[in-house]
Amino acid sequence: MTFQNLGLSEDTLKAVEDSGYTEPTPIQEQAIPVVLTGRDVLGCAQTGTGKTAGFTLPMIDMLATGRARARMPRSLILEPTRELAAQVSESFERYGKYHRLTTALLIGGESFVDQEKALGRGVDVLIATPGRLIDLFERGRILLSDVRVLVIDESDRMLDMGFIPDIERIVGLLPKKRQTLFFSATMPPEIRKLADGFLVEPEEIAVAPPASPAETVDQQLTLVHRDDKRAALREILRAETIENGLIFCNRKRDVDILVKSLTKHGFETSALHGDMPQYLRTDTLDRFRSGELRLLVASDVAARGLDIPRVSHVFNFDVPIHAEDYVHRIGRTGRAGRPGTAITIAQPEDALHAERIEKLIGRDVPRRDLETVEAANWGDEPKRRRRSATPAPVERKAAPKDRPRSRQPAAGEERRRRPAAPAADVDRPDTAFGEHIPAFLLRPGRDAQPA
Ligand code: AMP
Repeated sequence: MTFQNLGLSEDTLKAVEDSGYTEPTPIQEQAIPVVLTGRDVLGCAQTGTGKTAGFTLPMIDMLATGRARARMPRSLILEPTRELAAQVSESFERYGKYHRLTTALLIGGESFVDQEKALGRGVDVLIATPGRLIDLFERGRILLSDVRVLVIDESDRMLDMGFIPDIERIVGLLPKKRQTLFFSATMPPEIRKLADGFLVEPEEIAVAPPASPAETVDQQLTLVHRDDKRAALREILRAETIENGLIFCNRKRDVDILVKSLTKHGFETSALHGDMPQYLRTDTLDRFRSGELRLLVASDVAARGLDIPRVSHVFNFDVPIHAEDYVHRIGRTGRAGRPGTAITIAQPEDALHAERIEKLIGRDVPRRDLETVEAANWGDEPKRRRRSATPAPVERKAAPKDRPRSRQPAAGEERRRRPAAPAADVDRPDTAFGEHIPAFLLRPGRDAQPA
């Protein structure tokens, strides 16, 4: 099968050729002709299958004729995260280079003014995260009555992130007569129900996930005590020949701590997590993609779904809590048949999570012992810090003088309950909660990133 048989225009085919693609991926082969007929699509496919081009390419041809009116986009693509939205926008740029389509990106964390300006000029393709879109709609800056094509991408992730009520609301603002393309990596009953409500006689397309990374990735696991993890990572970083590597931490707080520690030890690295302003995230990623930055320390969702080709190494500084995250993380290396290395640094307390990972991938991860760091065993008790009568000053931070001491409530004073901590050290949903935070925890946020 070639791209020529799918019904795409010459200009679009030229852009595809410029991208270096020779053959359509299975999702592209199946979706492109259907999308071009104007039918609804229910696609079960995850990132990495080429699904973005699967809907982008036919949309470019379908929108080639006609003009957008100010504030009235002609098509709408909903993405759960800012990074994915930005990637889709880049795809339109790349594949639409021989067309004159206008696109706009409405994502949290970036200036309203610029986004409103772009809308005012009229856009053919609007790519948005749900919260920001609703904000702009409520400000009267956008009208959705001209949208003829709607794409809801990564629907299961939208569900996990609590975006479904927003999506239902947005869909309610669109014309009934439209084409809807609905994609999800998995099809649990809630997602199918949602799809049933949005789609009319869709063509169902399902493609297998990309080949399991486990086949091309050399996986290793180093088991050390918790306090030795950084030293273990340093030894490994020095021992490996690394073209470029992603280092994953479970918590965004640890991302920053690790970056500081690595920098102190002479490794050049940067952080990527959801608390960073968008421009910095984009800049960091660009530096990593271009090869200027060799090591990137990231949290899961900040890196998830991002198209970062040719990563030679993935390091799990923490064993991921969810086994699927392990597969996602190590899937960043060993792509397209290239060799890759994934090294996990575990501590004895991770035994259960490591066991689940090995069950999921169907094999044991070979152990790697280190030269400078003592190996631990799964059954080991956490290593106790040596205690002396007078605590070592370096290990103890003096309490700041002005820190208020906790006190008992005075008579008649109601004891105020401390509000539930909003998981301060875990990334927010569009950045690093992973896909596993229950929706109810996320509901109050919209794009989950303050504008
Ligand atoms: P996606 O699943 O849309 O995130 O795409 C995953 C990766 O596959 C991206 O790096 C695309 O640039 C790349 N890609 C998409 N279509 C093709 C194709 N037909 N041949 C080779 N690579 C492709």
